[in-house]
Amino acid sequence: MRLTEEYNMGNEGTIGIIEQKQTSPETVFIELTSACNADCSGCGFRRSEKYPRSQMSRRHLSLLIDALAESKFDYYLQSGEALLHQDFTWFVETSAKKAGAGRIHLTTNGQLARRSDIPWHFLGSISFSIDGRDPHASSARGLRNQEAIVTETVREILNNRDNAGTPEIFVSAVIRPSNQDQLVDYCQYWLNVGVEHIELIHLQGTTIQAAALTQQQYPQVNSVHRHLSEEDWAGIDVARLDAELEQVRMLNEPRISIFPDISKSALSTFYSSSTKFISPARVCSKAWKSLEVTTNGSIHLSGICVDLSLGSLDEEGIMGAWNSAALQEFRDLLSVEKRLPCCARCCGYFGSEIETHPDKFQNP
Ligand code: SF4
Ligand code: SF4
Repeated sequence: MRLTEEYNMGNEGTIGIIEQKQTSPETVFIELTSACNADCSGCGFRRSEKYPRSQMSRRHLSLLIDALAESKFDYYLQSGEALLHQDFTWFVETSAKKAGAGRIHLTTNGQLARRSDIPWHFLGSISFSIDGRDPHASSARGLRNQEAIVTETVREILNNRDNAGTPEIFVSAVIRPSNQDQLVDYCQYWLNVGVEHIELIHLQGTTIQAAALTQQQYPQVNSVHRHLSEEDWAGIDVARLDAELEQVRMLNEPRISIFPDISKSALSTFYSSSTKFISPARVCSKAWKSLEVTTNGSIHLSGICVDLSLGSLDEEGIMGAWNSAALQEFRDLLSVEKRLPCCARCCGYFGSEIETHPDKFQNP
């Protein structure tokens, strides 16, 4: 079912659930560093933001490695540019030795990808965030020769990859006014280079307006946002973008995904009434699937919507945070309310599963 159909159903009797009891997170997102060498609009980590940057200590990295060795979840390094962390190589190599290779997944803008010390073969996947083919658009993000650097890197990784087919290679583009009519060309280029997955992602996240509404309606929830506002997509032409995405779909290429895959009517709501993009058929997937660890070792549900502090690597550890009373209470709130204003446009919301039996909704 495409999200647009679900969005238009208006069936309040249908809710999204995470059906199975989760005894542990599936995914833990790690912020190795809050620094970034790029300047992407809409991102709170962009280098032009003025706030003190930090990076995770060796002690916290060691605790993460121990936790990985005892668990089934994987780590996703994103938020900030992980390759800027001075211990990146040590962290990936030591994790592979103690917890097995392929358990760490990297998202990077690729600017530093030609460094010789990066242990690509120990990573489970690499997602290169590269928004378009236009060098001026990359320069506007503060990145030089991005397409050439990533192309060379991808070819080298593919030539040297191991028998298990790892690392898997993704290329992802955030859809922006600057690339809205070049997406077919983008997909064709990266298919030719040989990447396994191409993701076209609508610029998403909790907006300033949605965060304010959440605070107003649910004062017990400390809502946050990452500076995303409607100005960031003001140049999107919905009709033009819809036509371009239709051509992308016509390539009929399973390696391409559009996230969320919405077509014209829903697209229009998504870009023009951002706080109203709430489907009755979904509920947050993050609260039942993932956690985030920030540079100082503190553990949260999500840096993108609510400031829900669940403990630290030093005290509670990842499993303690997962089973904490604070997270349980938040799941209870979502179980009753199904969605908060900040869920509009949130990736946690689009990633949730659909289920038609509300009585199966349960906490872990
Ligand atoms: S490369 Fe990623 S982390 Fe850095 S500013 Fe751009 S979107 Fe943010
Ligand atoms: S869907 Fe989940 S992660 Fe996203 S805003 Fe709602 S509660 Fe937060």
